Amino acid sequence: MVFPFSSIKNFTIDLNEEHELTRTMIRDFAEKILSNYVKQGELMRDIPQELKIKAKELGLYGIDVKPEYGGQGGDYLSAIIVAEELSRIWPSFATFFLINWMFNRAINEYGNEEQKKKYITQVATGEKVAAFAVTEPAAGSDVAGIQTTAKKENGYYILNGRKLFITNGDIADYYIIAARTIPPQREARWKGISLFIVEKDWGVKPVSRLETIGLKASHTTELALDNVKVPAENLLGEENMGFKYAVETFDYARTIVAAQALGIAQRAFEIMSNYSLQRTAFDTKLANFQNIQLKIADSLADLEASRLLTYWAGTLYQRNMKNEYIIVASLAKFFVTEAAERIVLRAMIEHGGYGVTTDIELERMLRDLQILKTYEGTNDIQRISAARQFYNRFMGVKV
Ligand SMILES: Cc1cc2nc3c(=O)[nH]c(=O)nc-3n(C[C@H](O)[C@H](O)[C@H](O)COP(=O)(O)OP(=O)(O)OC[C@H]3O[C@@H](n4cnc5c(N)ncnc54)[C@H](O)[C@@H]3O)c2cc1C
Repeated sequence: MVFPFSSIKNFTIDLNEEHELTRTMIRDFAEKILSNYVKQGELMRDIPQELKIKAKELGLYGIDVKPEYGGQGGDYLSAIIVAEELSRIWPSFATFFLINWMFNRAINEYGNEEQKKKYITQVATGEKVAAFAVTEPAAGSDVAGIQTTAKKENGYYILNGRKLFITNGDIADYYIIAARTIPPQREARWKGISLFIVEKDWGVKPVSRLETIGLKASHTTELALDNVKVPAENLLGEENMGFKYAVETFDYARTIVAAQALGIAQRAFEIMSNYSLQRTAFDTKLANFQNIQLKIADSLADLEASRLLTYWAGTLYQRNMKNEYIIVASLAKFFVTEAAERIVLRAMIEHGGYGVTTDIELERMLRDLQILKTYEGTNDIQRISAARQFYNRFMGVKV
C-alpha cells in the first residue's frame, strides 16, 4: 500500500496513440489558426465569430461527446488535452470550450434521452453556445447558499433570482441553471436545489458584463431571472438533486482547469528556455548563468509534476476511482495553477526589462492565471476539500 492509495499500480497514466493524435490535431489548429486571433480578441474582449466557425468545422466542441449526440467521440483525457493545447495559445478560448463541455457533460450524466438529443447535439456541433449558472451575488464557494427559486405551477417552473460571474452568460443560447425547489432545510442546507435546462428566449436577461483582470475575451456576466418560465420536462435529472449534480460537475471540470494551467505552464517554459539561449549579457548566453539554470530546473520540475498530476487525475476519473479522483483533482487544480504562476514569474525575471512590458505573452498569462486560481472552486477551497476528503474517505474520520 502506498498510503493513502492502495497500490503502486494506481500511479500509471492511461494515455494512448489516439490521445497523441488529438494533441497533434489541436496543436496544429492552435498554432496555425487560433494564434491569429489572440491579440485582437483580448483587446476587443471577444472571440471572433469567424474563429468559432473554424473550431466548429474542426469538430472541437464535440470532443468527449458520443457520436450519436453529434460528438467526435474521445474521452475525458481527450478533453484534458484539448484544454491544455488551446490554453497554451489562448486560455480565453479554452474557457469557451470548457463551459460548453460542462454543459454537455452534465446533460449526458443526468439528462434523459430527449434532452441529450436536443441539447447536447446542438452544443457539440457548435450550433449553439452554452452556459452553466450556479454562482450568485451572495453564494459562490457556498453552493448550498443559493437563493434563486423555482416554483412549480401548471406544468412549468417559474425561476426568480440573480446569477453572477456566469461565463458565456450574455452569448449563450442554452443554460443550466441551479435554483431552489424547496427552502434550505435546517439540518442540510444543500437539500432542495434543482438544475434546469433553460433556453435564452424563455426570459434569461444578461444585465451586465464584468471586466476581469484576465481571460479578457471570455464573457463574465450577471444574469437576471425574472419569472423565467421553464417547462417541467426541462428539469435535469431528479428534483432536489441539483446540489449533487452541480458539485459533481465542478469536480470534473476541475481537472480541465488544471489542464488549462498546464498549457500556460508549457508555453511559459518554452518562452523561458528559448530566451535563455537567445539573449546574451556580458558576452555570454543567459543559459550559461547559474541563476538562470536554477530557474530552468525549478520550472521543469514544476512543469512535469503538473503534467503528471493532471493526466493522473484524468486517468483516475476514467478508471472510475472516485475516492482517489476527488482528492487528486483538487490537488491538480491548486498545484498546477500555482506552479504555472511560479514558472511565469521566473520567466518574467529572466526577461529583465522586457519581462515587465505589457506586450509580451507572459503578462497576459499572469493575469489569466489569477482567474484559473479562482473559478471552479478557489484554490483554498481545493486545499480544504482535499484534506477533508482524505480524512473522510481514507481515514474514516469526518472533519
Ligand atoms: C471569471 C470567472 C468566471 C466564472 N464563471 C462561472 C460560471 O460560468 N458559472 C458559475 O456558476 N460560476 C462561475 N464563476 C464563479 C466562481 O466559481 C466563484 O467566483 C468562486 O467559486 C468563488 O466564489 P465567490 O466569488 O462567491 O467567493 P467566496 O465564496 O465569497 O469566497 C471569498 C474568499 O473566501 C474564501 N472562502 C470561502 N468559503 C470558505 C470556507 N468555507 N473556508 C475557507 N475559505 C473560504 C475563498 O477561498 C475566497 O478566498 C466564475 C468566476 C470568475 C471570476
